[in-house]
Amino acid sequence: MNIMSNEKVKRYRGTDLHTKGWQQEALLRMLMNNLDPDVAEHPEQLVVYGGIGKAARNWEAFDAIVKTLKHLESDETMLIQSGKPVAVFKTHPDAPRALIANSNIVPAYANWETFHELDRKGLMMYGQMTAGSWIYIGSQGIVQGTYETFAELAKQHFSGTLKGTLTVTAGLGGMGGAQPLAVTMNGGVCIAMDVDETRIDRRIETRYTDVKTNSLDEAIQLAEEAKRMGKPLSIGLLGNAAALLPEMLGRGFIPDILTDQTSAHDPLNGYIPSNMSIEEAAELRQADPEEYVKLSKASMAVHVKAMLAMMEKGAVTFDYGNNIRQAAKDEGVEKAFAFPGFVPAYIRPQFCEGKGPFRWVALSGDPEDIYKTDEAILREFAGNEHLCNWIRMAQKKIEFQGLPARICWLGYGERARFGKILNDMVANGELKAPIVIGRDHLDSGSVASPNRETEAMKDGSDTVSDWPLLNAMVNAVGGATWVSLHHGGGVGMGYSQHSGVVIVADGTKAAEARLARVLTTDPGMGVVRHADAGYELAKKTAREKGIKMPMLEE
Ligand code: NAD
Repeated sequence: MNIMSNEKVKRYRGTDLHTKGWQQEALLRMLMNNLDPDVAEHPEQLVVYGGIGKAARNWEAFDAIVKTLKHLESDETMLIQSGKPVAVFKTHPDAPRALIANSNIVPAYANWETFHELDRKGLMMYGQMTAGSWIYIGSQGIVQGTYETFAELAKQHFSGTLKGTLTVTAGLGGMGGAQPLAVTMNGGVCIAMDVDETRIDRRIETRYTDVKTNSLDEAIQLAEEAKRMGKPLSIGLLGNAAALLPEMLGRGFIPDILTDQTSAHDPLNGYIPSNMSIEEAAELRQADPEEYVKLSKASMAVHVKAMLAMMEKGAVTFDYGNNIRQAAKDEGVEKAFAFPGFVPAYIRPQFCEGKGPFRWVALSGDPEDIYKTDEAILREFAGNEHLCNWIRMAQKKIEFQGLPARICWLGYGERARFGKILNDMVANGELKAPIVIGRDHLDSGSVASPNRETEAMKDGSDTVSDWPLLNAMVNAVGGATWVSLHHGGGVGMGYSQHSGVVIVADGTKAAEARLARVLTTDPGMGVVRHADAGYELAKKTAREKGIKMPMLEE
């Protein structure tokens, strides 16, 4: 366990409250959990993951949030504006205890330049997705999505397994770190490059990556051997993707599968230009941010060109949600969008059924509570073999980071059903303390992101962002414990709007009613959004589940 780098961040566990109710306590514990050094990438800077995705605007704002939560009544709501608490209003017990708006900028000005200017003036922070909405659970949060993506790819391109295949990718950060594990869980071999050795070490410590090397020769040799033997293996390769990919090409080394999860959504604070150490990058970023962004984007162009060349030579290539194609296109790489994004290629059918990265966290801090909920899934969803396999594999392979948590992709109907089960388990004392239920903003009905979640929508509605706004409103009305509306997550400023939701199962009847509402409206928005766009599977789901859509033809 990493030592707390800041005494302000506490590991609250057990059943003693530090606030006036479990909803407020959940907010407090989840805020702290986002900044736990076992969970966050750079907690000392309040950075949770995804480039500069932060939990609070600054330490002063963090202190104020903590103080506010400690005094917040069970009929009050705290308002957060880009990581700073700005008001507490009397509302009512079924209303959210917190409403959060992060990084929102009027559309005509919604770019990194405006954001950085506001950030410098202390008026804004980057909330990413779950960083500023306090439901980040470490790399586990993305593992199943990554696993599902590779499983679907294996189904479409290889005979249902990645056994005997080699994947090359980059980025071993908070989210990208899930890639090597997801590949080996699917039976494949993975070379994952990262320019920052500490990131590789962290993935090795937590068993997301098997071995580390700084030699391309060694990486290739290990990978080819494992591939030949049909053995799963993940190799963390130290180096810059924009330099290593062209080198691989030069040697005629073409992987079977190719993708990337460097922080390319943020050319200043995320992506590292090639031919530069981490230290040199940090210096240039301070000294000459404009020059840094120029070099960064030029490297992304080289990076994408190498990906396109490997694709032409047969690598199954896809964008993994970091907007690197857009940066390359802006740099003049005309064919940047020739490879697809992962959502239209592999994930959208799940979205049509309201499925997405559903997660829950044991506020007790006791791993046993999560193991008991695993048993509940295995019992209650025994007919769903894919889901049960996932839970068994997750139990075996995934280390908890911070508060024990679990993730699994559940859809419309399943989420409400499981929410009630969790609430009952809290009520009857099976679990030691309440459970927090939430999800990523990357979900079926909560995000508008034309280069990612809503890329290539059937009806051309990729850029319509009414949907996440409706999603946030209906979840707030339904009684979620906290609701958030963000801009720029995943793909950067100007390219996305999305909303988050978290709800506490504290075992009360009031929570049971709120859970039934929110865990229905939230995935329901996913089904509706896709049915409205014309997807047959979503229309069928809406009809079969009896979701009322006034203009859905019979
Ligand atoms: P992060 O900032 O924690 O990690 C990024 C990593 O990339 C760092 O370890 C960094 O050292 C490395 N890196 C940067 N430039 C590099 C280069 N040129 N070569 C090699 N390594 C380089 O970010 P994260 O949370 O892991 O997210 C990564 C990206 O994936 C982001 O753009 C994020 O928005 C996106 N994302 C995708 C999904 C998804 O499901 N596909 C979900 C969330 C986030």
